[in-house]
Amino acid sequence: MIDTHSHIYLKDFDADRLAVIFRAKNAGVEHIILPNVDSSTLSAMLELEATEPQFFHAAIGLHPTSVKANYADELALIRAELDNRNYCAMGEIGLDLYWDKSFFREQLIVFEQQLQWAVERNLPVIIHVREAFVEVFEVVKKYQQDLKGIFHSFGGTVDEARQIMSLNNFKMGINGIITFKNSSLSETLSQVPLEYLVLETDAPYLTPVPHRGKRNEPAFLQFVAQRLAEIYQISEQEISEITTQNAKSIFSRICE
Ligand SMILES: [Zn+2]
Repeated sequence: MIDTHSHIYLKDFDADRLAVIFRAKNAGVEHIILPNVDSSTLSAMLELEATEPQFFHAAIGLHPTSVKANYADELALIRAELDNRNYCAMGEIGLDLYWDKSFFREQLIVFEQQLQWAVERNLPVIIHVREAFVEVFEVVKKYQQDLKGIFHSFGGTVDEARQIMSLNNFKMGINGIITFKNSSLSETLSQVPLEYLVLETDAPYLTPVPHRGKRNEPAFLQFVAQRLAEIYQISEQEISEITTQNAKSIFSRICE
């Protein structure tokens, strides 16, 4: 299995990170993609990646909730990193109108700039979208000819899923939300072939049942895979294999 979205470089894991990694491998996790948040997370992310560069794969990007008045300085750092070394993706990037709408104009500038860099450098994108699907989709469509990537933490409607499937080369990241009783995601997925899905935890957030309410970690990917096996009526092994292939088709650099 590939955890295509995990923030285990955050302080939440400082006390027991090695045990978390050990449990992930025991649960069958073969690769973990680490999306960046902003300048405050970069060094911790890179330090973790350096401990096991075949297992951890860093993505670079400025998260929409970190877009504030100083966004130009933050973007300059992202640009410098892109020039500095290879990353597996641009992420996480996108638009978030749930937490704070006051920097929406700046969020749009930052998102579009990072999409352009992804196109120029042939990098897949990891997209964060919260209460802004229409706005995100409008920008992604402009560049879709030359773009591939993930709509991370997908929990949307059938209509949104159809729009994503209409793009050239995009998949949906499925996490603990699929195990929540009040979620309509399983009904949405009845209209979505498995070839469009990848697994993610979004650790430390969105912990799946039966651990809901506690800190999430990559080993819990197995509960997402189990739930998908029920929904698609195939084995957990097949879910692992198919979603791993899907992830590799987007993040081609991790298998180099
Ligand atoms: Zn994230």
